[in-house]
Amino acid sequence: MNEKDIIQTYFTKDFDDHSVIEGIGDDAAIVSVSNGHELVITTDTMVEGKHFSKQAPAYGIGYKLMASNLSDIAAMGASPRWATLTLTLNTLNPSWLQEFSNGLLDCAQIHNVILIGGDTTSGDCLNMSIQLIGEVSNGEAMLRSHAQANDKIFITGVIGNAASALDQLRNSEFNHAYLSESQYAALYMPQSRVSLAIELRKLANAAIDISDGLLHELEIICEASNVGATLNLENVPFNNNISIEQAMTAGEDYELLLTIPDHLLKQADLLSKKHNCLLSNIGQITNSNTVELYQGDQLIPYPKYSGYDHFAN
Ligand code: ADP
Ligand code: MG
Repeated sequence: MNEKDIIQTYFTKDFDDHSVIEGIGDDAAIVSVSNGHELVITTDTMVEGKHFSKQAPAYGIGYKLMASNLSDIAAMGASPRWATLTLTLNTLNPSWLQEFSNGLLDCAQIHNVILIGGDTTSGDCLNMSIQLIGEVSNGEAMLRSHAQANDKIFITGVIGNAASALDQLRNSEFNHAYLSESQYAALYMPQSRVSLAIELRKLANAAIDISDGLLHELEIICEASNVGATLNLENVPFNNNISIEQAMTAGEDYELLLTIPDHLLKQADLLSKKHNCLLSNIGQITNSNTVELYQGDQLIPYPKYSGYDHFAN
């Protein structure tokens, strides 16, 4: 099996989408952009030993790689459209490749994303990146820098599910047979809040996805928007197998954090029901330049560690 066979066998699929003028096969892909839209472009990488263990299931690795990129596109309120894949393999294992591409392409199909190209190489360490390209109506993307004082802070879903599943894996020396179905899903098949975010875009001033921890992402919004925030931890839905401190600072939830002005809260609630997705008001943006945490009325100490950073010491 050579490079061309790998691309042909595992990554070239028929599709029916008039936006793709040239897909896999030429030196580069060509797509046609919808009228009145801007491109929204992101990339996310996964490295063996860093983002997943040697024992991780190939299907889950592929699915999660696509899902983590979708989460970034969702956080902009954009519609995901086209992806390219960079794959570095340290061994050639056909059944691994089949499972990996099944996971990746299953997740892509759910969100109408088409794989239009990539690069396949050999190397010492198994790693892969997707570049995902989406579209959004001109000027309508949600930015980290547009939070306003008095906006209410919302999160989608429940946080800490991935961290709890990861605890379970660590306790069993990464034997995946011990994961329940919901733990497997939390770690490897995170929901991407794409359709909800596309509609919330009309309401939210700012948004970010929670890939590196709720507190960490809130700090980023506050710094970018030059505002502060108060959070009420009693209103944060989290996985009860771990503590609220761990849930607030753990990564890989791929939920969204959004700030929404008061007069649009009713509409946000309707969208939450329409999309069958929990949307919880967990705090408020303030004029200060600090983030404060409350348990009910009581101010509680701010944790030293707020979230994941690859290069923090
Ligand atoms: P070149 O050497 O000109 O860069 P390649 O042989 O790397 O071309 O790739 C041939 C075609 O296959 C290109 O269209 C490229 O985008 C696509 N491709 C390569 N690797 C992948 C991959 N892992 N997934 C999807 N498409 C790929
Ligand atoms: Mg190439």
